[in-house]
Amino acid sequence: MIRRVVYLSMHTCPLSAPGRGDAGGMNVYINELATTMAGRGVDVTVFTRRADEVTPDVTDVTDRYRVVHITAGPAEPIPVAEMTRHVGTFTEGTLNWIDDAGLRPDVLHSHYWLSGWSGVVLKEALGVPLANSFHTLGRVKDLRRRADEPASSPVRTMTEEEVIARSDCVIASTPHEFEDLLEHYGASPERLCTSPPGIDHGVFRPGDRTEARRWLGLPLRVPLVLFVGRIQPLKAPDLAVAALPLIESPDLPPQLLLVGGPSGPQGERELDELRTRVARGGLSERVHFVPAQAHAALARFYQAANVLIVPSRSETFGLVAAEAQACGLPVVAAAVGGLAYAVADGRSGLLVDGHDPDGFAVAIGKILADPALAARMSAEAVAFSERFSWPATADRLLELYAGIQPQ
Ligand code: UDP
Repeated sequence: MIRRVVYLSMHTCPLSAPGRGDAGGMNVYINELATTMAGRGVDVTVFTRRADEVTPDVTDVTDRYRVVHITAGPAEPIPVAEMTRHVGTFTEGTLNWIDDAGLRPDVLHSHYWLSGWSGVVLKEALGVPLANSFHTLGRVKDLRRRADEPASSPVRTMTEEEVIARSDCVIASTPHEFEDLLEHYGASPERLCTSPPGIDHGVFRPGDRTEARRWLGLPLRVPLVLFVGRIQPLKAPDLAVAALPLIESPDLPPQLLLVGGPSGPQGERELDELRTRVARGGLSERVHFVPAQAHAALARFYQAANVLIVPSRSETFGLVAAEAQACGLPVVAAAVGGLAYAVADGRSGLLVDGHDPDGFAVAIGKILADPALAARMSAEAVAFSERFSWPATADRLLELYAGIQPQ
């Protein structure tokens, strides 16, 4: 019986607002999972690196879910590359905290390669099993990165290999990631398992489009294409902009809402380049840049739009695609990684091969031009999204944790 779990999230705090910087799907994942686990009576402690001077050492989120900030390196946001120098301090601080509090967990679950690194040390020191979720794999990301993006560091990919070899269980979010772990990292299949993330269906649910547009101050009649995600080359917001003028719409010319803030070393530059591209293309009236929104506030954007575009070059799962579908929004997504699992092609949306703007424009045009198809997809999207739920994910993980055979 699992009574106490420790989650390691060194590089980003699950309580940080997602949608910009290093905060995205992984933050949402850990926060939602920890909340759900705590609701089941499991005691959850999340350890993260202190990134400011003001947050208290311990934040009690609920009775059984707390976030502990460990000082490791400067108390300010630092790039991931710099964090590698502080993994040892983070690990030691976490171990001391666990010892002092007498909180030896039944299982450790680390997230991302940096925390996995810490996890393999803590697992030995505490004598408890370790599960790791990568959320993104360096080698897989590199396969599809844009030519002007730097490759993952050898420190990252070698650490990933080591974490895969030493974890008692590696949790893939989709069958696709499972295959990637086998193919690109030579993982042992008997120590791999698959568990997709969930969605909060209480927040992400269908709503009246007109009402949502009124609430957001958006035009009522114009077809709206929505992009939600951190602005970085991997998410390909440039492709969404390039596709917009190519969409054939029987109605008014569609407009594009780009929701999210810059992320990573190239984020700011990417955002500047997008703005320039929009202005040069004469699209300023049709493309709207919206800063990162609070997670729950996104529901209204999904309800307001006609189609979600997810043109990512690489995507381990794609929570935004699942959230949008839960709100009844059909999704046009690149047929890469987990998106092929998160979207039911031809039913809840359309998957597009390759990264040619034309392909995305045609798929979006098809949905905009056919209200019956759009309505059918919207209904299918809601039904399909039900397979992603936090209670189901928590059940599956509790079962997994309990069945881990330590190496
Ligand atoms: N998100 C948000 N506000 C924003 C943009 C994104 O709360 O302005 C959330 C979004 O709802 C989703 C997460 O950030 O839950 C992004 O997860 P996804 O798997 O799509 O991408 P990742 O960030 O993991 O690359």
